[in-house]
Amino acid sequence: MPGFELFGEEERKQVNDVLESGILMRYGFDGMRNDHWKAKEFEKAFAERMQSDHCQLVSSGTSALTVALASAGIGAGDEVIMPTFTFVASFESILMLGAVPVLVDIDDTLTLDPESVKKAITPRTKCIMPVHMCGSMADLKALKDICDDNDLLLLEDACQAIGGTYDGKPLGSYGDLGCFSFDFVKTITCGEGGAVITNNNTYAKHADHYQDHGHDHVGNDRGAETHPFLGYNFRISELNAAVGLAQLNRLDHFLAIQKSNYLSIREALSTVNGVTFRRVPDGGEENYSFVNFFLPTEELTVKAHQALAEIGVDGCFYWYTNNWHYINGWGHLKDQSSLGRLPKEVREQMQDLNNTDFSKSDAIMGRTISSLIKIGWTEKEVRERAEKMKQALKSVL
Ligand SMILES: *Cc1c(COP(=O)(O)O)cnc(C)c1O
Repeated sequence: MPGFELFGEEERKQVNDVLESGILMRYGFDGMRNDHWKAKEFEKAFAERMQSDHCQLVSSGTSALTVALASAGIGAGDEVIMPTFTFVASFESILMLGAVPVLVDIDDTLTLDPESVKKAITPRTKCIMPVHMCGSMADLKALKDICDDNDLLLLEDACQAIGGTYDGKPLGSYGDLGCFSFDFVKTITCGEGGAVITNNNTYAKHADHYQDHGHDHVGNDRGAETHPFLGYNFRISELNAAVGLAQLNRLDHFLAIQKSNYLSIREALSTVNGVTFRRVPDGGEENYSFVNFFLPTEELTVKAHQALAEIGVDGCFYWYTNNWHYINGWGHLKDQSSLGRLPKEVREQMQDLNNTDFSKSDAIMGRTISSLIKIGWTEKEVRERAEKMKQALKSVL
């Protein structure tokens, strides 16, 4: 998964371009920057790679989600449907805007279950936010149909599935807006960074202004720019963008290694009776950053996870009891523990998450293990890992 495993000359060269001029900011200082515009260059290249009209770089994946929601006009009391299995950034970005996260069950795609989504729609629902967890995607066609029928926005969180496709389109480009993270453990990294992509000119303009204090970016005198609406600072720095530009050039190479390593591990696991794999919706291709598999029962899954650790296989995750990715670990959200008072709309409208039935999600997550796919493994390491995983799983099944 992580691009940090393969770091080198190209990243150094891009960063040096920026250090030589000393202009660490992405805007302005035209005469001093030796014509280096790393953030702009990254945006152009990323939009092209993602077959989208626009890309807005920002400071993180979490900011990307926040900026995407804000650019589409999501605000106080608007309900955003999100899955029970995701990263905490999903509800953080929603709450940041005073909007209300509505948590909904997942299915065997490990992403939003379209039937559960339908049941969660109310007159206040504005957006459906599928999260393409662990390298593969939600059933986007079904979700898009629901959005079309109910006049809702489809916002894809593609932070963990960059490079995957659905219906021939890059993940993130299928919905109205798509978000990416380039934090340190993502497939390509720039230290900290994120991106929003869209084909909607208005959202693109809003995102451009919103992530930079509302600056309208007209002319080339920053001090004279006006601000048509309130914004914030979610800018990326030119240094981070430089690293990202180098990594973006290597994305397809990383994906090819990932796929090859994934296929070796998956082939080995396929020979173990009782192991089944996460469903990839028809028309989808994973980005192969994880191999995700199910065991027959929760009890066997706990044992298998232990056996994998004992035999020395690292990077196998049992999300069901993980603090960051599944609702079981989100006591702070369930109890609405925040430093300051949350908006009235959030306090009044949010589900009572301590007493909501997510047994459908539990039944899936309790049986799911994900193995990280590294791109720095040698062929020998992949073979040995596959063999060990097979042994560990056979020992409990
Ligand atoms: C990493 C991640 C994010 C947030 O990205 P940051 O850059 O770390 O803020 C959001 N959603 C998902 C699914 C992620 O994995």
